[in-house]
Amino acid sequence: MGGFFGTISKSACSTDLFYGTDYNSHLGTRRGGMATYDKEAGFTRSIHNLESSYFRTKFEPALDKFVGNAGIGIISDTDAQPIVINSHLGKFAIVTVAKINNIDELERDLLKANMHFSELSSGKTNQTELVALLITQGNDFVEGIENVFDRIKGSCSMLLLTEDGIIVARDKWGRTPIIIGKKEGAFAATSESSSLPNLDYEIDRFVGPGEILRLRADSIEQMRQPNEQMQVCSFLWVYYGFPVSCYEGRNVEEVRFQSGYKMGKKDEYEVDCVCGIPDSGVGMALGYAEGKGAPYHRAIAKYTPTWPRSFTPANQEMRSLVAKMKLIPNRAMLEGKRILFCDDSIVRGTQLRDNVKILYDYGAKEVHMRIACPPLIYGCPFLGFTSSKSDLELITRRIIKELEGDENKNLDKYATTDSPEYQKMVDIIAERFGLSSLKFNTLETLVEAIGLPKCKVCTHCFDGSSCF
Ligand code: SF4
Repeated sequence: MGGFFGTISKSACSTDLFYGTDYNSHLGTRRGGMATYDKEAGFTRSIHNLESSYFRTKFEPALDKFVGNAGIGIISDTDAQPIVINSHLGKFAIVTVAKINNIDELERDLLKANMHFSELSSGKTNQTELVALLITQGNDFVEGIENVFDRIKGSCSMLLLTEDGIIVARDKWGRTPIIIGKKEGAFAATSESSSLPNLDYEIDRFVGPGEILRLRADSIEQMRQPNEQMQVCSFLWVYYGFPVSCYEGRNVEEVRFQSGYKMGKKDEYEVDCVCGIPDSGVGMALGYAEGKGAPYHRAIAKYTPTWPRSFTPANQEMRSLVAKMKLIPNRAMLEGKRILFCDDSIVRGTQLRDNVKILYDYGAKEVHMRIACPPLIYGCPFLGFTSSKSDLELITRRIIKELEGDENKNLDKYATTDSPEYQKMVDIIAERFGLSSLKFNTLETLVEAIGLPKCKVCTHCFDGSSCF
């Protein structure tokens, strides 16, 4: 997905920019970049590959060169960013959190309009540069950003570092969040509100869908009002989000806890203890344990010194290896126990298979699994939350294909909790992985835990619903 951070201050911004961007590291794995602007020195930009290293390691040695009071930074899951561009709107640097599905069509149109692309990432068009070109087709920044909103299929939130402040624009459906932080003499804009507390910012506001703001060191100007409709990604609370982050005023850990609590309250299975699969399963498991009245035990632990979550290779085989190596089972807490594990989701099932086997190998008597969200039936066209090339990578679709002879048949039935098709699919997953029991959260419980009206939350990957 990717995450960004921008700040504008009455004093030098590089320290806040550096740490604020770094606090988005769990959202992306490929490229890190920063750009600052100073009246005298102009724009300074740097981009590093993060596939085998960390943002802080790469940027710390050269931090002194980022001069100025305003800057933007990105942890990108796609292209090299920020892009710096000179245009009739003035010079600006831009970072995006975006997924553009019609990139080929837009590229063709822009080339036909005599525009050109200079930043080719791995031989392909850089989508952030494409967004920058769409912006420059407008007569002003607002018109240009609206051009992006109107023409892209997918989602796009962005920060523009201009010679007069930072322009903040949230995706028109609000699929990805932007939070504004404020402190004496400075404003910040970030994908994760967890970037703010240690840099002494308070949350000032949650940017609305399609809203455009201009931040200056001492003021916020609203350049475009937010849209009425919103489709914020529900998976932010389930998986992407850092526990202390808030989107739309709803805290990630609280939502995970509530959703686990509600599941635990009504679960009929008796277990000896509950454990969360680190990291995103922990909040849910703590809630489940409280709801169920069973103790929480750390029967597996994550080796955090060298396996932070952000360190996730793009290649599936390596990802499975990393997933296995960073979780270590604890025989002393597993032996002879009926244990219930909570995890965020099941995508391909590869990690689940490895985890369950190891838990039995280390003496667990029963392994029950509870999943924070409903089964993932539909691919995500808005954020690309898996690197899947095809829906068939989803375990649900593979089972549907086995049962129906066609992975696209009767999807609505498989997406309906407790329908015979749904139950059959869940039973097959449980059996295939040797689970004593398996339950997925219901969409109603998840939405209730998030606390926003269903019509404001994107749940497309669970139920195929859409309003685009
Ligand atoms: S389809 Fe799923 S992952 Fe994608 S934006 Fe919607 S809820 Fe989020």
